[in-house]
Amino acid sequence: MTNPQIAGETPTPRHHPSPETLASFAAGTMRSGFDVVMSAHLQACAECRAEVAQFEQLGGHLITEIDPVALSESALAATLARLEEPSRPPPPRTAGGLDQLLSGARRRWVAPGVWAARVDTPSHHDDRVFLLRVAPGATTARHTHAGAEFTQVLEGALDDDGVIYRAGDFVELGEERTHHPKVHGSDACLCLFATEGRLVPTDLIGRIAFAIANV
Ligand SMILES: [Zn+2]
Repeated sequence: MTNPQIAGETPTPRHHPSPETLASFAAGTMRSGFDVVMSAHLQACAECRAEVAQFEQLGGHLITEIDPVALSESALAATLARLEEPSRPPPPRTAGGLDQLLSGARRRWVAPGVWAARVDTPSHHDDRVFLLRVAPGATTARHTHAGAEFTQVLEGALDDDGVIYRAGDFVELGEERTHHPKVHGSDACLCLFATEGRLVPTDLIGRIAFAIANV
């Protein structure tokens, strides 16, 4: 049973990351790039923030329970050497960091009513993180992704194979799949995506749009 949304209230997200995904984020083992989309969801979702905090507490507790083991003589030197290496910037867990990252993305119109912007974030090989804004009535490209795809709906609503995702909702696809998300309702839809590997458009409009957007 879901509560009807009241105009003017901040909607409560109804679609969330899986517990495994929340745990992976809390443990810091999430694929880089995907953590940006997770950060956007956490910004919108108090429920998931609380779950991540619980996982983090649990992780700290487990570490204190591990029996100590003797370290080799070279372990300290290796650890100190690693501290000298330039480290990857941390994922944008704060609201300011995420907003700054997204506002720096360069928009490219890829079709009437549709723009895409690559988000400049450390990501894995061919993974892609991008913003996509689709006007009502405009269509997105039918596409296949080789692995996982995370989507956070920032504005408007999305219809993905008959399931409606609204602002604040998270869409987690864990495996290769072809799908064709559409705008739902009369407002434009703004989404943040991360995909594992390059997206493969399966129609002509997609091939043209993806070439222009370099997504
Ligand atoms: Zn959530």
